[in-house]
This record gives sequence, structure tokens and C-alpha cells, in this order.
Amino acid sequence: MTANTSSAELVHIIGAGLAGSEAAWQVARSGIPVVLHEMRPGKMTEAHRTDGLAELVCSNSFRSDDAANNAVGLLHAEMRRLDSLIMRAADANQVPAGGALAVDRDGFSDAVTRALDGHPLIEIRRAEIEGLPPEHWRNVIVATGPLTSLALADAIRELTDESALAFFDAIAPIVHRDSIDMSVAWFQSRYDKVGPGGTGADYINCPLTKEQYEAFVGALMAGEKTDFKEWETNTPYFDGCLPIEVMAERGQETLRHGPMKPVGLTNPRDPTVKAYAIVQLRQDNKLGTLYNMVGFQTKLKHGAQQRIFRTIPGLEKAEFARLGGLHRNTFLNSPKLLDAQLRLRAQPRLRFAGQMTGCEGYVESASIGLIAGLYAAANARSTSLAPPPATTAIGSLLGHITGGHIETIEPGGRSFQPMNVNFGLFPPLASPPTRKPDGTRLRGNEKTVARKQAISARALADLDRWIAESLNIAAAA
Ligand SMILES: Cc1cc2nc3c(=O)[nH]c(=O)nc-3n(C[C@H](O)[C@H](O)[C@H](O)COP(=O)(O)OP(=O)(O)OC[C@H]3O[C@@H](n4cnc5c(N)ncnc54)[C@H](O)[C@@H]3O)c2cc1C
Repeated sequence: MTANTSSAELVHIIGAGLAGSEAAWQVARSGIPVVLHEMRPGKMTEAHRTDGLAELVCSNSFRSDDAANNAVGLLHAEMRRLDSLIMRAADANQVPAGGALAVDRDGFSDAVTRALDGHPLIEIRRAEIEGLPPEHWRNVIVATGPLTSLALADAIRELTDESALAFFDAIAPIVHRDSIDMSVAWFQSRYDKVGPGGTGADYINCPLTKEQYEAFVGALMAGEKTDFKEWETNTPYFDGCLPIEVMAERGQETLRHGPMKPVGLTNPRDPTVKAYAIVQLRQDNKLGTLYNMVGFQTKLKHGAQQRIFRTIPGLEKAEFARLGGLHRNTFLNSPKLLDAQLRLRAQPRLRFAGQMTGCEGYVESASIGLIAGLYAAANARSTSLAPPPATTAIGSLLGHITGGHIETIEPGGRSFQPMNVNFGLFPPLASPPTRKPDGTRLRGNEKTVARKQAISARALADLDRWIAESLNIAAAA
């Protein structure tokens, strides 16, 4: 169809990947016309191979489909309740993959393309948007993804500032706070310094002896690494973001003078013995459930990371909410730049969605496209939409992007880095389960399982309430 471009209600969406396609569907479902701009096939990214909408550039998996025990499975369930096109196309094109939801990638992309191409309220324009959208586009969603074309990325960077748009990520692992052994680790800031918003005891410190440090450095250098893709090797990383294993290769003592320096810290259990090296973890979210291994961005393979990082005293049983990485990835410093409805504070007509906002993964990107679409549709109708509850997967991810992350106070790499959905982003339960239905006490891992299941049940109940109270009312208005 040709959308009526003079309509004040019109929503322009730039990028028809996972997020842009879902956003277009949600806006059109609300009865609002959409123009969806996609640069392929005229201009391709380094990873896309087809002209299909919502092309999956690598794996064909949407990960676990277990809504009761897994945060991404819960996100699937929430998106299905919100009539997600991406989930509908994925469900219709499933291939066998055990407990995971994997799809036939061509069938999936074709289904999304057909649904949008044939929609009477959607016009698809195949052209690159080479700078900021024209002023008369008043309601825009930018969903151009990790490989946003340079012309648009440069324009966004000029509008924000040099450090607000990154061209690659430098991801340090994040650990669930309750999996850290606090009988070994302790809370303290270096020299007990009270920084902005700090207490002087803001970091979790894990001490290493000389022998442990030397074994650790050896393991880092020997550990299996992932290769940079050819086009990523030309993306330089600055010194503040060197992978930990590259630092280790520069000399046996380099890490002791960098992220593992032991100065200004005293182990309260052994105050007269100085640790040879110390790993520091910094609080990563306002809830205090996640801690970030400061300076530990890495290209080690995930299995090697888990094995090597669990040799650090205090982290023997660490559960990782996110493992480290370094990739070409265009994304915003969203907690600073975007408001709670994903609008650029400096130019609220521009709303962002997908991986550019700092979420990670196909499903997460689509879910942020979904909520951006709902907000844009509400704007077009001059109504407002209550935010999704923070207790839901979609609400907790949105909260993390727009405000839940705590910014670093050290110089060097920016602290906000892309994140998959995980249970550490959800507000803790008011009263975590302690007993089974038969009244007997939950033990060990049973408690973790019961906690996840209670968080999931709370999420779905709260989402249903939000749909009934906010979306149905908004649709009727
Ligand atoms: C190499 C690579 C491998 C990945 N592997 C996985 C994986 O295995 N599993 C996983 O879950 N996630 C993976 N990801 C992350 C994945 O890309 C994102 O999770 C997801 O595709 C992001 O969705 P999006 O909608 O934000 O961006 P995309 O899906 O990339 O969509 C962005 C769209 O915008 C278009 N575009 C860009 N600039 C412009 C412009 N100026 N004008 C018009 N159109 C434009 C692009 O052509 C593209 O179609 C990978 C990413 C990369 C780069």
C-alpha cells in the first residue's frame, strides 16, 4: 500500500530487522499507518545476505522456550500474549531443537515479509536513510541494529556526543550476586573512597595468592578464543577496552597493574597478609542483584570463561548472567540518552528500538521493537501508555535499558554494555518460596528453581493485568 504521508498519525520506522519489523506490526495492528524503510538489497550490511525482512544473521535459535524456568522463554510467552509477529512467524516455522525454539530461517523471514508486505497500513520503502530523518517526520522509530549504516550512525553521533554511540561492545562478564561466596570475598572500595552515590564499600573483592594469579594468567593465555570476523578486525578498540587475555599477553605483571591491582584494599579476614592480586566486581543494576567483573572484557569462548573465572577465589560457584565479549556493535548509551519511552531526550520525535538500545539477541531486540511500536502508536493517537510492569520480562529489560543500570565512575570503557534478558534484571520476590507444595523445606538448587518459577508466574499475572488495564483501554480510546 502507499501510506498517506501527509497524515499526522504516520509512523516512520527505519530498519526492517527483528525490531523494526515487530514495531511496524504493532503500530499497524493499532490502526496507525506505517512507512517502513529498509536499505537492503540496495545496500547490504556486512552480515545480512538476503533482502528478506527480519533476516537472522547467524544462529537460527531463539534459545530456550521454557517460560517457567528461563528468562528468554518467559519473554517468548509474554510476546505471544502481545500478538508478536516475530513469535507468530517463529512458531509457524519451528524446526526440532529440544527445549529451544529454533526456526527455518528462510521460512521465518518469508513469513514476516509476507505479513508486512501485504498489510494495508504498511508501506515498505527500500532505501537507505542517510542522515537524520527530515524534520516533518514527527514520529520515528530508529531500529537499524548493530550494523547501522555509517551515514546514519554518524548523524546520530553528532546529535548525541562522541562517547554516547559506541561502534563495538566491550562486554565484561556479569555474575549473580547471590552466587558469590562472601565468606571469601568482601565489600570495599579502593582506599575506602566514597564516590558519587557510593558508601566506601561498593565493590566485591576476590583475593588471589601469587600461585593462583600465575595459574590464572597462564589459563587466560591458553584459553580458547573466538575469532574476530574479517570486517571486525578493522574496528580498532581503544586501550581502555583491551580484552583481558590481550592484556595478559603483554606481560606476567600487566594485570596486577591493571584490572587486578591489589592496592588500597585489605582483606578483613586476613588484614596483615596482602593479596597478590584482586578481582573487583562492581554493582551493575540498581536492584543490586548483578555484579560486573570490572575490566574483564574478553574474546575467550564461553566455556573457557566459565572454567577460568570459576578458579577465582569467591567465584567457584559463580552463576553468570552474561559472559564477556567484543563485537562490532552500534549502540547508544541509552540510560543517559533515552527517556522511559525510548525517546531520544535531545529530539523526542526519534524513538529507538532493538539492539541499538543496548539489548542483545534476536528475541530481546524484537521485544524492544514491540514496546517501541506500542508507544509510537499511543503517541500517534495522542494517548499515553502506562509502562509495562517492572516485574515482567519485557518491563525489566526496558527498565535496564532506560535506567536500571548503574554508570561506572572509573575512566576507560563505558559501563553500559549490551545485555540479554536474565532473571537478575527482575525485582526480587517479596517472599521467596521456602517450602514445596507438600510443606517440606526446599533445599539447594530446588530453591533457585522455585524462585525462578515464582518470578515467571508473577510476570505473566502482572502482564495479563497490564494488557487488560492499559492496552485494552488504549485500544478502545
Ligand atoms: C554478526 C552477528 C551475529 C549475530 N548472531 C546472533 C545470534 O546468533 N543470535 C542472536 O540472538 N543474536 C545475534 N546477533 C545479534 C542480532 O543482530 C541482533 O540480536 C538482532 O538482529 C538485532 O535486531 P535489530 O532489529 O536491532 O537489528 P537488525 O536485525 O540487524 O536489523 C536492522 C536493519 O536495519 C537496516 N539498516 C541499517 N541501517 C539502515 C539505514 N541507514 N537505512 C535503512 N535501513 C538500515 C539493516 O539492513 C537491517 O535490516 C548477531 C549480530 C551480528 C552483527
